[in-house]
Amino acid sequence: MQRVFLRHFITMTENSIAGPEAPALDQPATNIANIAKTSEHHLQKIQEQYDVERKKRLLPDGPAQYVGLADQSTKTFHSNGNIAMDNNLLQEKKVRVLIVGAGFGGLLFAVRLLQTGFLRATEILFVDAAGGFGGTWWWNKYPGLACDVESYTYMPLLEETKYMPSQKYVNGPELREHANRIAGQWNLGERALFQTVVNKSAWNDQDRQWTVHVTPHGQSPTAIQSDFVILATGLLNSPKIPKLGGLETYNGKVFHTSRWDYEYTGGSPSSPIMHRLQDKTIGFVGTGASAIQAIPHLAQWAKKVIVFQRTPSAVDWRHNHLTDRTWWVKMVQEAGSGWQKERMENFNAFSSNEDPLPDVDLVDDGWTKMQSFSVLIGSPSGLDPDHLTRMHQLDLHRQEAIRRRVETTVTDQATARVLKPWYPGWCKRPCFSDDFLTVFNRPNVSLVDTNGKGIRTVTDRGILAEGQEYDLDAIIFGTGYSLGGSADRGDLTVTGRDNRPLQEKWQKGLTSLHGVMTNGFPNLFFPGPYQTGASANQVYVLDQLAIHVAHIISEAGSLTSERNPGVTVAGFTIEPSARSEGEWTSKVLMRARALGGVLNCTPGYFNREGLQFSDLEGFRAAHFSIWGEGIKSYVKEIENWRRTGGLVGLDIQSRHDK
Ligand code: NDP
Repeated sequence: MQRVFLRHFITMTENSIAGPEAPALDQPATNIANIAKTSEHHLQKIQEQYDVERKKRLLPDGPAQYVGLADQSTKTFHSNGNIAMDNNLLQEKKVRVLIVGAGFGGLLFAVRLLQTGFLRATEILFVDAAGGFGGTWWWNKYPGLACDVESYTYMPLLEETKYMPSQKYVNGPELREHANRIAGQWNLGERALFQTVVNKSAWNDQDRQWTVHVTPHGQSPTAIQSDFVILATGLLNSPKIPKLGGLETYNGKVFHTSRWDYEYTGGSPSSPIMHRLQDKTIGFVGTGASAIQAIPHLAQWAKKVIVFQRTPSAVDWRHNHLTDRTWWVKMVQEAGSGWQKERMENFNAFSSNEDPLPDVDLVDDGWTKMQSFSVLIGSPSGLDPDHLTRMHQLDLHRQEAIRRRVETTVTDQATARVLKPWYPGWCKRPCFSDDFLTVFNRPNVSLVDTNGKGIRTVTDRGILAEGQEYDLDAIIFGTGYSLGGSADRGDLTVTGRDNRPLQEKWQKGLTSLHGVMTNGFPNLFFPGPYQTGASANQVYVLDQLAIHVAHIISEAGSLTSERNPGVTVAGFTIEPSARSEGEWTSKVLMRARALGGVLNCTPGYFNREGLQFSDLEGFRAAHFSIWGEGIKSYVKEIENWRRTGGLVGLDIQSRHDK
């Protein structure tokens, strides 16, 4: 496979000579024509290096190398201080729509439903383990937290709320505030049961409703009935740490970036002045997207920071700036109604490598200069035989520039050498920072590179790595999250008709209609991520799915009323037929090959930590893939389906039907 790719690649560049150096990283090329040609020899060397580095990182236990924070019983992790709350909503035993998750996804589902006029805010109930609205932006409070997708495209409902983000990339507290703003504007503020875990959701065919079993923090479990359930639980929300020998013996403090302990560090999310760290040596495990935001702040306050690295991130420029109000007003006025959707779709076009690309790059940042990201999220040209080759070509240029940036920024060349990423850019979440690399020029920061193996052992005093013991006052884990879809999470059981668990139904492969519903589970909706389109801007995807689901529910309500004139319709069911979901799944499978470029990536949560699939496992895994042809094509499919009318492929029934 590797050889085939290489031969193909070399043929394409046969006439090339060892060309000019790639342009500086802040002037990336936007199409292949601009790319500096690279010699055959150089290409081969890079490919070999990618392969060597990938192999170093392969661990036999794959995803099983990690445990959840609650699953490791040996050391208590900080939990963001959940406390028992009095909540009047616990008295409500029946609602119309129960939404699991009160982040941007859950809020969008609620707002889009309200906009159809199908129901009132008082008929919706959110249930969330967090202590407030915001989802990921509620849990994460680490210093430096910010969204790395431009806020004008990322923050939902900016037109409706008329909110101007303060910066091109706003910080965590502003995102959390925006979640509260949305909840307030649509009267949803009092409609959430927070600090409450959903354990199980079971369909009751007799009563045509769901029974949702919930446990409020510090209280007894209780049950709520709901006509509809929407699982908006997010993709990356179960924090994980590596399984570590000796963690139970460690005498210092431990916490995960998503549960930052300001009691220990000093400061607060809005003012991370971490004065309590001035005499502390902190070990930070991981160099992913959270790490690159948090470490520069730690370095400012701690006596010493020791960063333990397994795979370096590819760090592009950030170039954040305050929003210029004059520019904002002009931009919004000139673009007119629908400006935010247009901006989101313009952003998607570049990162999905649409052909042709729009004339204007409205967002104009590191994401929109990264067409090779389309290997991960799908692209209209994904099935072209030479797509992957072209993406490698584009990407090589980008990664080369990123590696050169490390070399020119980090003074100590031994440190610079190990901070260089050796893999195609789509294999890991791209990172953007103007101050992460320079942190390694500070006297109080050092990097321990584990040569692709990661840390495996903790002692009573600190971390044992590369044959040396590092004494640490605290270990902070920036080691990420388990990837899980809303409907297939280990900690939430969903049972449909005949008490059949969803996980059992999907054991041999996921089937769905449009990635949002599945046969045997009436009135259950979930926002993919499997079998839906994907984007670097997850909020765009969530909004499209929310609009789609709101349409399905309200149209089904209207159809039922038309069929039963003069009757107040209650208790209707919506369910995709087995045939319609079979057809949709086939369409997904036909496009799955477009995503094959991820399989040989350096290990990570995108590719099951690099574990190879047997043919059978590969076929099953393809059912869990996204829409390979890119987000625009996916949205067109579901829009066309809506335009056709009649909710084709859905079985709508009510107890009034004869
Ligand atoms: P990631 O999964 O991206 O990074 C985890 C880091 O921990 C990696 O560097 C990983 O190395 C490292 N690691 C894991 N095990 C070990 C070990 N045993 N020893 C040493 N290092 C280890 O998690 P993050 O929390 O950084 O980010 C998670 C996701 O959250 C991102 O991918 C992104 O989608 C999202 N995010 C988004 C942000 C935004 O601005 N929108 C900001 C922050 C996060 P390796 O690479 O080798 O696995």
